[in-house]
Amino acid sequence: MPSKHPSRQEMPCQDPGERIGNFNEVALGFSENHARLEASRCLNCKNTPCIDGCPVGIDIRAFLTFVVEGEFKRALEIIKEKNTLPAITGRVCPQEMQCEAVCTLGKVKNGTPLAIGSVERFIADWNAMHDTGVVIETPPRTGIEIAVIGSGPAGLTAAGELARLGHEVTVFEAFHRAGGVLVYGIPEFRLPKDVLEREIEFLENLGVRIELDTVVGKTVEIQELLDDGFKAVFIGTGAGLPRFLGIPGEGLVGVYSANEFLTRTNLMKAYNFPEYDTPISVGRHVSVIGGGNVAMDSARTALRLGADTVTVFYRRTVKEMPARSAEIDHAIEEGIQFRFLRNPVALIGNEENRLVSMKLQEMTLGCLDASGRASCEPVEGKFEKVDTDMVIIAIGSDVNTICTSSTCNIETGRRGRIVAMDASQRTTMEGVFAAGDAVTGGATVISAMGDAKKAAKEIHEYITSGTSSNETSS
Ligand SMILES: Cc1cc2nc3c(=O)[nH]c(=O)nc-3n(C[C@H](O)[C@H](O)[C@H](O)COP(=O)(O)OP(=O)(O)OC[C@H]3O[C@@H](n4cnc5c(N)ncnc54)[C@H](O)[C@@H]3O)c2cc1C
Repeated sequence: MPSKHPSRQEMPCQDPGERIGNFNEVALGFSENHARLEASRCLNCKNTPCIDGCPVGIDIRAFLTFVVEGEFKRALEIIKEKNTLPAITGRVCPQEMQCEAVCTLGKVKNGTPLAIGSVERFIADWNAMHDTGVVIETPPRTGIEIAVIGSGPAGLTAAGELARLGHEVTVFEAFHRAGGVLVYGIPEFRLPKDVLEREIEFLENLGVRIELDTVVGKTVEIQELLDDGFKAVFIGTGAGLPRFLGIPGEGLVGVYSANEFLTRTNLMKAYNFPEYDTPISVGRHVSVIGGGNVAMDSARTALRLGADTVTVFYRRTVKEMPARSAEIDHAIEEGIQFRFLRNPVALIGNEENRLVSMKLQEMTLGCLDASGRASCEPVEGKFEKVDTDMVIIAIGSDVNTICTSSTCNIETGRRGRIVAMDASQRTTMEGVFAAGDAVTGGATVISAMGDAKKAAKEIHEYITSGTSSNETSS
């Protein structure tokens, strides 16, 4: 008997054997037919759990209806009301933990949730390909200047929201390219940089100005921006400071932080050597430490750069891995090996100070921690040694405090994170707001965007009502 609910359309992908030899995008995207078939699976639930599951509240049911009807431009207009970066979120959001996690189709017996992210990506790509020129109506310009620090998802979202309200927005970015982690962290094979450029161009068409190579806290200070006439400042400087293991041997040749390895490859385009003169030397037997998206990106990048073997060492099990499930699946298909319940305790070098091996401790799972994830503990006396000539450490990152250390008015908390009020995202400095990884620590693209939207709304309120930021949020 045919199933009552048609099955989920699978995302077509480059063949694993082929893709490990290039940096082209792995997931090829839905065709028009795929997208319409997938959208037609929507049950049009009255209570729309998917919208509640989306951190920026996109009207998912409405855009799916337009996709079924082939009205792709209308579908994009619906998405853009809430999300200025759909080609990006459609590619990198952990949908299985958000909108798709609560989709009713996934709750029925043997059911699979609607592939909302893949349809969202299709809509963004289709409109770009057909140059439909979706225009966002903006009110008359207010002439009010606002400074945004950092051009990652938080900064770009705040800038877009404020420009849509008619304000004059200038983004100050430390690097020579805009995009934050989207440009220096996430590799081309997951997020092609022309997709990002398209989304940034959309913001520039809304009137957003971007000033590159400007390190706020060094080139200019927050107080100077306010003195120069910016009526409010938004900080979205992310969490780009790598964490290390704190074990012997981390200074050996062949040991990298994931941040350095990925920045060299993506931002400096080491993968495009000799066209770009920034080669990176990759070991034959590469070990990646960690279990998140950063670890998966590092492992798959090392493989593409020519490593013979790449092994991910994670101190918990596959069940606790924070990486998106699609990235874990893709890594397995590509031949990345996994060793679970292993934690490095020493990195060992030769007489030339080059890494040659690593000492690992066996781990075991313990009780659930505050986040509901199993903790892990060392198994006493159980060690092993593995040969490796490159280690990439991908165990998280902290906030770089260059921006905030130039003023004593902004309170920071644990690991340098900026203290911002939950509801308003305001900091302890008058007229200064913050969101994204700089506040939460390393999180997700969509959570950075969601909080940046809240901040933009509050900034608008603050500059148009003429009250102090303390008054507006009380
Ligand atoms: C390799 C990697 C893979 C990831 N994969 C995913 C994924 O698949 N899905 C997902 O949802 N999330 C993923 N994440 C997490 C996600 O990218 C971040 O949560 C998100 O980018 C945070 O956005 P943000 O704008 O707060 O910070 P960022 O993206 O870090 O942007 C901050 C920007 O501020 C700039 N800046 C910093 N200091 C200054 C200063 N003093 N002056 C001026 N500019 C400054 C930085 O150069 C940077 O451009 C990944 C992260 C990494 C590192």
